[in-house]
Amino acid sequence: MSLESNVTARLPKVASQLIVYDFDWSLADQDTDRWVHEVHAPDLRRRIKERDGTVQFTDLCAGLLRELHGRGITPDQIRDAMRVMPFHPAMRRGVLQTKVASTPQTTFFLLSNSNSVYIDTILQHQGLKEAFTEVVTNPAHFEENGLLNLSRRIPADAPAAQQHKCKVGCSPNMCKGEELEAFLARHGGRSAFERIVYVGDGGNDYCPVLRLGPKDVALVRRYRGLEKRIEKEGGVEASIRFWAGAWEVEGLLKELRGEY
Ligand SMILES: [Mg+2]
Ligand SMILES: [Zn+2]
Repeated sequence: MSLESNVTARLPKVASQLIVYDFDWSLADQDTDRWVHEVHAPDLRRRIKERDGTVQFTDLCAGLLRELHGRGITPDQIRDAMRVMPFHPAMRRGVLQTKVASTPQTTFFLLSNSNSVYIDTILQHQGLKEAFTEVVTNPAHFEENGLLNLSRRIPADAPAAQQHKCKVGCSPNMCKGEELEAFLARHGGRSAFERIVYVGDGGNDYCPVLRLGPKDVALVRRYRGLEKRIEKEGGVEASIRFWAGAWEVEGLLKELRGEY
């Protein structure tokens, strides 16, 4: 399929829309799971590069956080790392301007393979917490001794009925496609939103993007896993708009508000 299709057609005006954001390298301009180690323990950062793909990713990150704790890194140091993580002012501006606009009415949903502590810290720090109706991610909490305890969204030992049924290769901890469908079911069904917009960059954003329809829009970050999977596996019905820098998403959000 041609990745250049649909790029010039203007996005139509709508009365209501759902904007789904991936977090790492989409809403935020870095990757939380790697960044925490880039700040505090570069050798553990290197370990992610060496082991990624051989161990389930959430489990890998949970183990490295135990090591980080063993080295005396405190909860404040972890939260401080999140607060200084690159976050583009244009992305923040675009989300806030879209949220306060009266038309279209926009619901924001954050769907991420990071974890609740990182995301909560950053959303609070950036003043974006109120903009998001829901955050679905891997659960995490600080234990009394300061350990950041991270677990999978779907535990490995959960009953078979709770495991996801995804066939396009989502990691066992979470299928973002199923999570998107579940969000829609909780919020009045697909027909509650005139249009769904998905902002993502990674290979695991391919599954939810596949579930979008022809009236929906995927804002795909260039040169990363999502673009590669769309190119290779195809099957996307939604309009695709590409971006590389957050300033371009700010422009696309403006277009999505019907301000041409
Ligand atoms: Mg991402
Ligand atoms: Zn999936």
